[in-house]
Parts: sequence; C-alpha cells; structure tokens
Amino acid sequence: LTTGLESAWSKLKGEDTLTKENIVEPMRDIRRALLEADLSLRPSLMLTYIQVSLPVVRRFVQAVSDQAVGTGLIRGVKPDQQMVKIVHDELVKLMGGEVSELVFSKSGPTVILLAGLQGVGKTTVCAKLAYYLKKLGKSCMLIAGDVYRPAAIDQLVILGQQVKVPVYAAGTDVKPAEIARKGLEEAKKQNIDVVIMDTAGRLQIDKTMMDELKEVKRVLNPTEVLLVVDAMTGQEAAALVTTFNLEIGITGAILTKLDGDSRGGAALSVKEVSGKPIKLVGRGERLEDLEPFYPDRMAGRILGMGDVLSFVEKASEVMRQEDAEELQKKIMSAKFDFNDFLKQTRAVARMGSMTRVIGMIPGMGKVTPAQVREAEKSLIVMEAIIEAMTPEERELPELLAESPTRRKRVAQDSGKTEQQVSQLVAQLFQMRVKMKNLMGMMQGGSIPALSN
Ligand code: GDP
Ligand code: MG
Repeated sequence: LTTGLESAWSKLKGEDTLTKENIVEPMRDIRRALLEADLSLRPSLMLTYIQVSLPVVRRFVQAVSDQAVGTGLIRGVKPDQQMVKIVHDELVKLMGGEVSELVFSKSGPTVILLAGLQGVGKTTVCAKLAYYLKKLGKSCMLIAGDVYRPAAIDQLVILGQQVKVPVYAAGTDVKPAEIARKGLEEAKKQNIDVVIMDTAGRLQIDKTMMDELKEVKRVLNPTEVLLVVDAMTGQEAAALVTTFNLEIGITGAILTKLDGDSRGGAALSVKEVSGKPIKLVGRGERLEDLEPFYPDRMAGRILGMGDVLSFVEKASEVMRQEDAEELQKKIMSAKFDFNDFLKQTRAVARMGSMTRVIGMIPGMGKVTPAQVREAEKSLIVMEAIIEAMTPEERELPELLAESPTRRKRVAQDSGKTEQQVSQLVAQLFQMRVKMKNLMGMMQGGSIPALSN
C-alpha cells in the first residue's frame, strides 16, 4: 500500500500546484495502491471484491480528485504534501469521521454478541471488553458459546478469572442458542450490566455458522452485534463485512491485531460497505490492549505519514494565505524588511518548539539540540532589536546600514550591543539572498528563519 502511495506523492514533486491534469497519474497510483493488496491473494473472492471494494475505492478516488482540484495550495506546502493531507482527510471521512461509542441498553442488561471467523481474536476480545467495561464501572458476564472445541470454553473461563468476571459455560453438547438463553437469564438474576457472548468461528463463512448465529441473535436480542475482523485481512474485509451484515445484521466492528505489520487497510471499507462503524481496536494480546477506534489516527497509520500531515496543518494555521503571498512578492523583489522579519520569527514561534518544526520538514537534515537552543536565543535578541527600531527603519533597513548613529540608538533602546545590531542588519541583507534561494526550494517558504 505504502509503496504505491509513495509513487503517487513522488509524481507531484516539483509541481507548482494541483490541477486536473497533474493529479491523473497520482490518482491512478492511489487507486491501485488501495486495490492491489488482495487481488493476488484470493482469486476466489474476486467477484465479491469487484462488486464491493471497487466502488468504494472509485468513490474515494473521485472525492479526492474533486478536493485536490477545488482547493488552493496552502503557501509553504508543496503539492505532494497537500495531496497527502487531502487523501488523509478523505480517509478519515471514509472511516466514519468520528469515534463511535458502544451503545448501552437503557433497561436490562446490555448484550454484546461477538461474531467473526476463526482465530481473529473473538475470545480474546471478550476478556478485553470485560476489562475495558469494568474500568467504566460496569459489571460484566461472559458467555462461552463456542461449543465445538472444549479448549475454547476453558480459554474463556481462564480469561474470565484473569479479569475477575463470571463466565457462564455449559457442556459441548448444548446448543449455542440454548447456552445464550440460560446465560442471559443468569445475568439478569445477578443484575449484570453487560453480557458478552463469545461464538465459534470457521475458517470460511458457511451456512451452518450463519444459521447458528442467527438463532443466537434471535434469543439474545443483543444491543450490539460486533463483527471481529483481523486487521491483516486487508481489503478482503469488504466482502466479509458485507456478508455478515446481510446475513446477521451487525451494529459495528472490532479490528484486532493492529499491533502487527498490517497498516490497517481492512479499516477502509467497513463503514462504506455496511454503514456500520468500527468501534474498537485491539492492538496486542494483553487485556488492556483494546481502545476506541479513532478514524484520524488510522488514516495516519494507513498513510504512514503523520509528520507531513501535522506539518501541513501547522503551516496552514500559522500563515494566512494573503500574508504569505505578500511576503513572497517582497522577497522576490528583494524588499523583505524588518517588519517581515518580525512576522516570520513570530510565525516560527507560534509553530511551537523549533526542534519539532524542523523535524517535521521532510528532507531537512538532523539539527542538534544545541543548535536549536542557539537559534531560539537569537530569535529573542532579534525581536528586542527590531522592536527598538522606528517604523521607517523597519521598512528601510538601508537607513540603519548607512547610519552608525541610528544603530547606536537602537542598541541603547533594546539593551543590546551595537555589534549585535550591526550583525542583525547584515543578517537581513544576507537573508534576502538566502530566502530567495530557500523560497525556490520550499515554494512559498513560511519558515525562512530556519535558514539561519
Ligand atoms: P478466536 O478464534 O476468534 O476466538 O481468536 P482468539 O481470541 O482465540 O485469538 C487467536 C490468537 O490471536 C490468540 O493467540 C490471541 O492471543 C491472538 N490475538 C488476539 N487479539 C490479538 C491482538 O490484538 N494482537 C495480537 N498480536 N494477537 C492477538
Ligand atoms: Mg474463540
């Protein structure tokens, strides 16, 4: 997924802006990157795949294209960086935008039914959920509904002991729907807040499993039916979610094993194909490794470019478009003065610690903490000196360059030495040159003070 996307960004490097024409190729890469993952893996799922995944991706690509052509570039941000941001924001939307909370029943126990293929982490999720809900102050009970393997019941009983919640279990000869009914009865007797039912999974979706689940669902009348999906499933998840949603009717999904290598492509289609959100994610085998699903974090993970995103966001916050344009004109015409200098240093200050900002700029080399401290100190000196200048002097640095008397006055008023003032004046003229170069590099350059 990432290589394909990187190829998309790289095609935009060196472009001045985003246009209908220059995004054609990158969009093709993005479409391919989103789709390719599983085509090679599962030819048998090709048909569902083409019916379900393809339209999702097509709509996504259309939305991104519209955004890309419709929005102006933020100054100081390169087209490829802005494209990453647009794709990111569309991914967030695709995954539901906001966090989706678990729903609790207003009367009687909340019943959560877990479903999913074998080995995806259902039984583990039972325990993790109980642990999670106990922290929210809810009492829980687990029901062992996987009757096909005695080991599965034992596994749940042991997990229940770890979390210190009761587990309702019966023999392997009792039907799951019957276990569900008795378990729920018992939970009501004990005034339990949340009942979590574990079920059996198969390697493939099959009719027996679906029929059994339907029966369990009918008996329990659950508040939540959560489909547990292994993050490694990739885009194949679209077919899985569609089938479970059509057959059983789900209220949401839980994505597990996000701690693995997978970037979480499975997250992409769940909402789009079912209209149901991912509510929680599992990111480890321990009880505490369950947390709410944050679409924006997931988008960042899928893109693997969190730093570029926050850079674009910060740059757009700090620099208003008009300011930046005016500044650029000035720089290009070598009229950059002390007012601009001040605006710039303040913009940098607003961007937060310089260390972080420098770290965010792709392609910037490593800067030592000592260098950063030095730069931050000189920013403070600069501000003091510039503030001691008259408005005229700020606009016409030549006045200071030509007059030692003026420099002396500024030094006195700012409490700095004449040498420091001379240095700053010299620096401004050097900066005019440097910035012109940097400008070319950054295409807008909202961070000229970094050229120090
Ligand atoms: P089930 O067949 O769906 O009930 O799956 P299990 O709950 O038995 O889990 C199958 C395996 O996946 C077990 O070895 C779990 O420890 C492991 N597992 C479950 N969730 C996670 C997770 O979020 N991360 C990792 N790394 N492993 C997990
Ligand atoms: Mg299990």
